[in-house]
Amino acid sequence: RNHGIGSWPARRARRSPDRVALLHRDRPVTYRELHERVLRAANGLRTLGVRGGDRVAYLGGNHPAFLETLFACGLLGAVFVPLNTRLAGPELAHVLTDSGSSVLVHAPGHAQVVAGLRTGTPVRRFVALEAARPAAGDTGYEELLAAPPEPVDLPVGHQDPCLIMYTSGTTGRPKGAVLTHGNVVWNCMNLLVDLDLGSDGVSLVHAPLFHAAALNLICLPTLLKGGKVLLEDGFDPRRALELIERERVDFVFAVPTMHEATAAAPGWATADLSSLRIVLSGGAPAADRTVRAYLDRGLPFVQGYGMTESSPCATVLEPERAAAKAGSVGAVNFFSDLRVAGPDPAGAAGAADGEQGELLLEGPNVMAGYWGDPDATDAVLSGGWLRTGDVGVRDGDGCVRIVDRLKNMIISGGENIYPAEVENVLHGHPAVAECAVFGVPDPKWGESGHAAVVLRPGARADGPELLEFLRGRLAGYKVPRAVRFLPALPRNALGKLLRHRLAELP
Ligand code: ATP
Ligand code: MG
Repeated sequence: RNHGIGSWPARRARRSPDRVALLHRDRPVTYRELHERVLRAANGLRTLGVRGGDRVAYLGGNHPAFLETLFACGLLGAVFVPLNTRLAGPELAHVLTDSGSSVLVHAPGHAQVVAGLRTGTPVRRFVALEAARPAAGDTGYEELLAAPPEPVDLPVGHQDPCLIMYTSGTTGRPKGAVLTHGNVVWNCMNLLVDLDLGSDGVSLVHAPLFHAAALNLICLPTLLKGGKVLLEDGFDPRRALELIERERVDFVFAVPTMHEATAAAPGWATADLSSLRIVLSGGAPAADRTVRAYLDRGLPFVQGYGMTESSPCATVLEPERAAAKAGSVGAVNFFSDLRVAGPDPAGAAGAADGEQGELLLEGPNVMAGYWGDPDATDAVLSGGWLRTGDVGVRDGDGCVRIVDRLKNMIISGGENIYPAEVENVLHGHPAVAECAVFGVPDPKWGESGHAAVVLRPGARADGPELLEFLRGRLAGYKVPRAVRFLPALPRNALGKLLRHRLAELP
């Protein structure tokens, strides 16, 4: 029997066939339709030769075909590999080769990069989405779905791999986290319990599904409960505000830069946002001023914390505590456990409440390992505990504050400086739109902190003024040595800061 996520459309179609599962480009897809299309996709993939354990990659934006292919793979016991659409050709070739993907489903708009993937990768079959005339030898997606909606009844268990999801590549090359069906199921269970998701939910999914956050934090939990997903091709803050009002959205997830853009968009002040029950932020730290912009409007802005390797949720703040615990990422999820490592990372004794340490996570949502890389797996997983690489501190109520990534820590004259703390203070200066603090080798101190700043349009401030602002608010050793002004900060597809690039700037 299939106990994996591939069985969800069928199980949902039995319970709520006429409810709308997806609304994409204003076209509704009911659970019955979704179920039928998933069966067709599974049978179609089977005729292309896809069998249990095979990897099927997907290159495209948010589209029902993304989810249909995911669920179809789940029915076949095949492994779905979502690709980051912002990657360049050679990076995509690496991911396809690393994962050993034999089929690639691709959306229009990627023709040029796909042409370059036809040789030198293990992909044998190409499936073109929304193509009037697919390239010679390719299969059109709708042609694939001409296969009959015959039942597919293959045994798939919780231990079987469901997804290979590549990490964001913020600190190095993306790593392929193997998420089993059990990982994805239990991650969804964590969210259903901790966010109290209901079957009448309406979720806005405008962050890219190829990242674990949009797919597993909001989209799949909503579908598991039988709610409605508004699937948006991309992010447009104005449209987001319109949709929230028109569709009475109750759950929205975004990364902090998207939340900031929404709060700065025309329409923010006047839109009726009263339907929102959960405004979830994650993937990167939200600045205090962003949290306040939402709380001051009476909106339940809460942060979740996690990583691809934990499918991805580790902690989430319940909306009831949004104001009381603002700035924290909440407590560990219901079915998982969290430890804050003590000063001796190998020692059994954890840090006391209020003490900083690396966060360690255990639970049924923690990945099986990195695909084909036992050494990298051993470096982060031992005895079921995942080394997150993030430093945090827990309060007496179990709420965690993320200090920063261990890798970001600057050691200057023997003192530890966490850039996030400095950045949060610098964000409070009225002229600063964006900022980042990074370490630069220093002959005297080993390393010293430097700041990169993007000014608000029309605002003026010079380096000495900003450093003076910090001196009044931070210990002297935390104040950067110098400030440089940039037109924009280097970021990846999810808006994550690529900090290592700053130190490399000429
Ligand atoms: P890579 O592992 O390839 O360098 P990445 O760690 O950015 O990239 P993801 O798995 O997408 O890839 O991101 C997880 C990381 O994002 C966490 O380890 C943490 O550093 C950061 N993060 C996630 N949520 C939050 C949050 N709410 N606050 C602060 N940091 C967060
Ligand atoms: Mg990581």
